[in-house]
Amino acid sequence: MSIFSRRNKAVHAVLEPEDDSDLPPRMRFPRGVFAALETDPPEAADAAYAAFARNALTPVVAEREIFHIFNGCGMSNPALESNEMFQYDFQRETTDNGRLRVIVRWLVTQQHAHEANLQTLRLFEKGGTVRRVTVLPGCCPACDKLAKKRFRLGSTPVLPVEGCRRHGGCICAWVPALD
Ligand SMILES: [Zn+2]
Repeated sequence: MSIFSRRNKAVHAVLEPEDDSDLPPRMRFPRGVFAALETDPPEAADAAYAAFARNALTPVVAEREIFHIFNGCGMSNPALESNEMFQYDFQRETTDNGRLRVIVRWLVTQQHAHEANLQTLRLFEKGGTVRRVTVLPGCCPACDKLAKKRFRLGSTPVLPVEGCRRHGGCICAWVPALD
């Protein structure tokens, strides 16, 4: 590679239109549950997402770290708070620690499901052989309705399913729809 081509590359990078790189990493998934998180102090939300990302393969470790980050924090999350199954879990807890554990568990499992399913769709797009996707039945009655439908890549609804009735949260995942 010549010096010029390297320089060109650098210039090109500067001229590239701005992408999402100025946003905190959690905002790169605007439909994920971490994007809806507001904390007091504000930086706790980003720190929690960093712990989530760092421990993507070991969600139990992520939950433990995030629990410590959130201890003593104020927080709100409209996406979680409007989820009836989350409310059910949350209201069953009688201690602050118990309620915080529920929040953390839901944040981690829902975000994980969201990102994993986006990743699946990306892989299908790259592979080029899958044209339509569906979810398998068995999550909950609400999601079973979704399982009867097929979606073209690029026009899929968001997972986890809003309005899912499964205890502990939606476990729907994209699979290729076989014609
Ligand atoms: Zn469901």
